[in-house]
Amino acid sequence: MPEAIFQFPAGFLWGTATSAHQVEGNNKNNSWWKWESEPGRIRQGHTSGVACDWWGGRWKEDLERAQAAGQNAHRFSVEWSRIQPSPERWDDDALDHYRQMLLFMHQHEMTPMVTLHHFTDPLWLMEMGGWESEAVPRLFQKYARRVAEALGDLVKLWTPINEPNVYMFSGYFEGTFPPGKRDSKSGFTALTNMVKAHAAAYDAIHEVQPEAEVGISIHYRSLQPQSSWSPLDKWIAGVQWHAFNDAFPLAFATGTLKLLNMQAAIPEAVDRMDFTGVQYYTRELVTFILDPRNTFGRRTFPEDAARSTTGFIADVPAGMFEALKWAKAFRKPIYVTENGVEDEDDSLRPRYIVEHIHQTWRAANFNYRIKGYFYWSLVDNFEWERGWTQRFGLWGLDVETQQRIHRRSVDVYAAICRDNGISSQMVGSLVPEIFSKLFPG
Ligand code: BGC
Repeated sequence: MPEAIFQFPAGFLWGTATSAHQVEGNNKNNSWWKWESEPGRIRQGHTSGVACDWWGGRWKEDLERAQAAGQNAHRFSVEWSRIQPSPERWDDDALDHYRQMLLFMHQHEMTPMVTLHHFTDPLWLMEMGGWESEAVPRLFQKYARRVAEALGDLVKLWTPINEPNVYMFSGYFEGTFPPGKRDSKSGFTALTNMVKAHAAAYDAIHEVQPEAEVGISIHYRSLQPQSSWSPLDKWIAGVQWHAFNDAFPLAFATGTLKLLNMQAAIPEAVDRMDFTGVQYYTRELVTFILDPRNTFGRRTFPEDAARSTTGFIADVPAGMFEALKWAKAFRKPIYVTENGVEDEDDSLRPRYIVEHIHQTWRAANFNYRIKGYFYWSLVDNFEWERGWTQRFGLWGLDVETQQRIHRRSVDVYAAICRDNGISSQMVGSLVPEIFSKLFPG
């Protein structure tokens, strides 16, 4: 028997998250495959290639491992360019592939959560102008309806669009994702269409499947002023915080999308979300600078926080509680739809996982309606413009041989899933470096 345990509510979902392009391989008909072929786009010229070979069937061994390690849920995405390879054609074989995955999850008592759009777009959509095209909400609705009709009997939890805020900032402000623009007006148009498309998909899924739960998935960054006494730091941190975190979800509460000095009325969005999916990774401190190209702010990590292998993430568990507190204001059930760290040698990940889940537990104990947690990711996968240089998996991946590598984090997370909580026994034996912090004297 454990001596002490941070216990989660009964029925809590414990899973990992993946996305189609990052694990399937050979997604040749989408914006990212093309992007990867252009010089200078991806670190070290990496390409997704066969990725984790899920399209070749290796999803099965990975999900088997996940289930054997105590996980009772999995969040994954279906690939639009496979399901609708051209505007007039639907591919039933592709839908059947996903159906097989869902059947497998049901047989293994794993609750699925399905995302319809995770950063990639069919090439035909890009040729029409991508998310800037006025046609996209209607097209996305058609696609959502088709998927719900084909798979809805096996899926209840849906997150139509993954991290619209990251898609917009990376694709239209920083230019690191397709379409590679640096134009806030176009970004605003794309985000407006994402709000409309989410609302349209919400309606279509509910028409097909009234009992469905359709949520948003938003990347929450804990953006804080570098110095709390500087009015300019405070101001710019607030501006960036609102633009990045709050703009998209707020549109579903108010029916108005407000981003920086831009605004659009979208009344059809009101209340089109059944839950809030929060994706939290890190905190940044914002300093005011006289540089409009960087929206007047420079962001750095808190100095006292440990960094991930390539310096991409600072380990700040308190930001998880902050994210959940923020999400609570939307008055919907909450899922942590992603949380994770890149850590090739798995030296930081075990304590990162435990401390972030501990903060989630604190929030659950304040009676926030938190219903599940999905670690990003099940296995190392293709990290967008950072290629294969970052390793987020519970399991490692040898990209050449496709061999999976067992990490200490697998056992840490498995114990949490099985105990439905964080036990002192587990922390003492697997993550002793934080034992006295979590279970003081
Ligand atoms: C994205 C994932 C990505 C992860 C780590 C999240 O924002 O949804 O696709 O792999 O961050 O970079």
